[in-house]
Amino acid sequence: MDAITRIAEDKLAENDRFRLFLGERNSSQIDEWVSKLDQEITPKIDCTACGNCCKSLMIVVKDEEANLLSDHLQQKRENFDQQYLEKGSNGMMLINQIPCHFLADNKCTVYDYRFAGCREFPALHIPDFKNRLFTIFMHYDRCPIIFNVVEKLKLAMGFETDGSE
Ligand code: SF4
Ligand code: SF4
Repeated sequence: MDAITRIAEDKLAENDRFRLFLGERNSSQIDEWVSKLDQEITPKIDCTACGNCCKSLMIVVKDEEANLLSDHLQQKRENFDQQYLEKGSNGMMLINQIPCHFLADNKCTVYDYRFAGCREFPALHIPDFKNRLFTIFMHYDRCPIIFNVVEKLKLAMGFETDGSE
Protein backbone atom coordinates (compact mmCIF):
# COMPACT_ATOMS: atom_id res chain seq x y z
CA MET A 1 0.00 0.00 0.00
CA ASP A 2 1.52 3.36 -0.94
CA ALA A 3 1.53 6.55 1.12
CA ILE A 4 -1.44 8.17 -0.62
CA THR A 5 -3.60 5.07 -0.22
CA ARG A 6 -2.80 4.98 3.51
CA ILE A 7 -3.57 8.68 3.98
CA ALA A 8 -6.77 8.30 1.94
CA GLU A 9 -7.96 5.57 4.31
CA ASP A 10 -7.37 7.85 7.30
CA LYS A 11 -9.25 10.64 5.57
CA LEU A 12 -12.44 8.76 4.69
CA ALA A 13 -14.60 10.60 7.25
CA GLU A 14 -12.91 13.94 6.55
CA ASN A 15 -13.55 13.52 2.84
CA ASP A 16 -17.20 12.72 3.44
CA ARG A 17 -17.45 16.00 5.35
CA PHE A 18 -15.61 17.81 2.54
CA ARG A 19 -18.07 16.51 -0.04
CA LEU A 20 -20.94 17.92 2.00
CA PHE A 21 -19.01 21.18 2.42
CA LEU A 22 -18.52 21.44 -1.36
CA GLY A 23 -22.18 20.70 -1.89
CA GLU A 24 -23.04 23.97 -0.17
CA ARG A 25 -20.54 26.08 -2.13
CA ASN A 26 -20.83 27.90 -5.44
CA SER A 27 -19.98 25.59 -8.34
CA SER A 28 -18.21 28.11 -10.60
CA GLN A 29 -16.08 29.33 -7.69
CA ILE A 30 -15.02 25.73 -6.98
CA ASP A 31 -14.18 25.29 -10.68
CA GLU A 32 -11.98 28.40 -10.56
CA TRP A 33 -10.03 27.03 -7.60
CA VAL A 34 -9.73 23.58 -9.15
CA SER A 35 -8.51 25.01 -12.43
CA LYS A 36 -5.83 27.11 -10.66
CA LEU A 37 -4.70 24.17 -8.54
CA ASP A 38 -4.67 21.83 -11.54
CA GLN A 39 -2.34 24.24 -13.37
CA GLU A 40 -0.13 24.53 -10.31
CA ILE A 41 0.08 20.85 -9.42
CA THR A 42 -0.02 18.91 -12.70
CA PRO A 43 3.38 20.15 -13.97
CA LYS A 44 4.95 19.07 -10.67
CA ILE A 45 3.77 15.44 -10.88
CA ASP A 46 5.75 12.92 -12.87
CA CYS A 47 3.13 10.66 -14.44
CA THR A 48 5.84 8.30 -15.68
CA ALA A 49 6.63 7.52 -12.03
CA CYS A 50 2.98 6.61 -11.44
CA GLY A 51 0.99 5.21 -14.36
CA ASN A 52 -1.88 4.35 -12.01
CA CYS A 53 -4.58 5.50 -14.43
CA CYS A 54 -3.25 3.14 -17.12
CA LYS A 55 -3.20 0.38 -14.49
CA SER A 56 -6.73 0.89 -13.24
CA LEU A 57 -9.07 2.66 -15.68
CA MET A 58 -11.51 1.02 -18.07
CA ILE A 59 -10.56 2.70 -21.33
CA VAL A 60 -13.26 3.38 -23.90
CA VAL A 61 -12.13 3.15 -27.52
CA LYS A 62 -13.98 4.89 -30.33
CA ASP A 63 -14.14 3.36 -33.76
CA GLU A 64 -11.97 6.04 -35.38
CA GLU A 65 -9.41 5.76 -32.56
CA ALA A 66 -9.17 2.01 -33.15
CA ASN A 67 -8.71 2.67 -36.89
CA LEU A 68 -5.87 5.12 -36.29
CA LEU A 69 -4.06 2.92 -33.79
CA SER A 70 -4.45 -0.30 -35.78
CA ASP A 71 -3.03 1.53 -38.85
CA HIS A 72 -0.14 2.79 -36.75
CA LEU A 73 0.54 -0.73 -35.49
CA GLN A 74 0.21 -2.03 -39.06
CA GLN A 75 -2.42 -4.45 -37.91
CA LYS A 76 -5.64 -5.38 -39.65
CA ARG A 77 -8.53 -3.84 -37.77
CA GLU A 78 -10.08 -7.28 -37.25
CA ASN A 79 -6.92 -8.61 -35.60
CA PHE A 80 -6.51 -5.45 -33.55
CA ASP A 81 -10.05 -5.78 -32.21
CA GLN A 82 -9.53 -9.43 -31.37
CA GLN A 83 -6.27 -8.78 -29.56
CA TYR A 84 -7.07 -5.60 -27.67
CA LEU A 85 -10.81 -4.85 -27.46
CA GLU A 86 -14.00 -6.15 -25.93
CA LYS A 87 -17.57 -4.92 -25.86
CA GLY A 88 -18.71 -3.41 -22.59
CA SER A 89 -22.18 -4.03 -21.16
CA ASN A 90 -23.34 -0.71 -22.62
CA GLY A 91 -22.15 -1.69 -26.12
CA MET A 92 -19.07 0.56 -26.04
CA MET A 93 -15.70 -0.84 -27.04
CA LEU A 94 -13.19 -1.13 -24.22
CA ILE A 95 -9.56 -2.13 -23.89
CA ASN A 96 -9.83 -5.76 -22.82
CA GLN A 97 -7.12 -5.70 -20.19
CA ILE A 98 -6.28 -3.73 -17.05
CA PRO A 99 -3.45 -2.65 -16.83
CA CYS A 100 -3.64 -1.42 -20.41
CA HIS A 101 -1.79 -3.46 -23.06
CA PHE A 102 0.08 -0.39 -24.24
CA LEU A 103 1.73 0.47 -20.92
CA ALA A 104 5.40 -0.50 -20.63
CA ASP A 105 7.76 0.72 -17.91
CA ASN A 106 5.00 3.13 -16.80
CA LYS A 107 5.00 4.79 -20.21
CA CYS A 108 2.41 4.73 -22.94
CA THR A 109 3.96 3.02 -25.96
CA VAL A 110 1.33 4.53 -28.28
CA TYR A 111 1.29 8.01 -26.75
CA ASP A 112 0.40 9.93 -29.93
CA TYR A 113 -2.46 7.51 -30.57
CA ARG A 114 -3.80 7.23 -27.02
CA PHE A 115 -7.54 7.46 -26.56
CA ALA A 116 -9.71 10.43 -25.58
CA GLY A 117 -10.23 9.04 -22.06
CA CYS A 118 -6.45 8.78 -21.57
CA ARG A 119 -5.90 12.34 -22.80
CA GLU A 120 -8.64 13.71 -20.58
CA PHE A 121 -7.76 12.03 -17.30
CA PRO A 122 -7.76 13.28 -14.53
CA ALA A 123 -10.18 15.71 -16.18
CA LEU A 124 -9.74 18.52 -13.66
CA HIS A 125 -9.97 21.07 -16.48
CA ILE A 126 -13.57 20.03 -17.12
CA PRO A 127 -16.19 22.26 -15.44
CA ASP A 128 -18.67 21.11 -12.83
CA PHE A 129 -16.19 19.54 -10.40
CA LYS A 130 -18.87 19.68 -7.71
CA ASN A 131 -21.13 17.34 -9.66
CA ARG A 132 -18.34 14.86 -10.39
CA LEU A 133 -17.31 14.18 -6.81
CA PHE A 134 -18.13 10.47 -6.98
CA THR A 135 -15.60 9.96 -9.78
CA ILE A 136 -13.07 12.38 -8.28
CA PHE A 137 -13.04 10.51 -4.96
CA MET A 138 -12.96 7.15 -6.73
CA HIS A 139 -9.54 8.18 -8.07
CA TYR A 140 -8.39 10.28 -5.09
CA ASP A 141 -6.35 7.46 -3.56
CA ARG A 142 -4.62 6.44 -6.77
CA CYS A 143 -4.00 9.65 -8.71
CA PRO A 144 -1.47 11.95 -7.02
CA ILE A 145 -2.73 14.89 -9.12
CA ILE A 146 -6.30 14.49 -7.86
CA PHE A 147 -5.09 13.82 -4.31
CA ASN A 148 -3.01 16.99 -4.18
CA VAL A 149 -5.64 19.17 -5.86
CA VAL A 150 -8.28 18.00 -3.36
CA GLU A 151 -5.99 18.52 -0.38
CA LYS A 152 -5.01 22.02 -1.54
CA LEU A 153 -8.64 22.82 -2.32
CA LYS A 154 -9.50 22.08 1.31
CA LEU A 155 -6.94 24.64 2.45
CA ALA A 156 -7.85 27.21 -0.20
CA MET A 157 -11.53 27.07 0.74
CA GLY A 158 -10.94 27.27 4.48
CA PHE A 159 -12.28 23.77 5.12
CA GLU A 160 -11.51 22.53 8.63
CA THR A 161 -9.60 19.27 8.25
CA ASP A 162 -9.47 16.68 11.04
CA GLY A 163 -5.93 17.84 11.78
CA SER A 164 -6.87 21.54 11.95
CA GLU A 165 -6.64 23.28 15.30
S1 SF4 B 1 -3.39 3.83 -24.27
FE1 SF4 B 1 -1.59 4.61 -23.25
S2 SF4 B 1 -2.30 6.32 -21.99
FE2 SF4 B 1 -4.10 5.08 -22.54
S3 SF4 B 1 -4.36 3.64 -20.84
FE3 SF4 B 1 -3.12 2.63 -22.40
S4 SF4 B 1 -1.00 3.00 -21.78
FE4 SF4 B 1 -2.31 4.48 -20.70
S1 SF4 C 1 -2.98 8.42 -12.04
FE1 SF4 C 1 -2.77 10.67 -12.15
S2 SF4 C 1 -0.62 11.09 -11.56
FE2 SF4 C 1 -0.80 8.90 -12.04
S3 SF4 C 1 -0.19 8.75 -14.19
FE3 SF4 C 1 -2.42 8.97 -14.15
S4 SF4 C 1 -2.81 11.18 -14.33
FE4 SF4 C 1 -0.65 10.93 -13.79
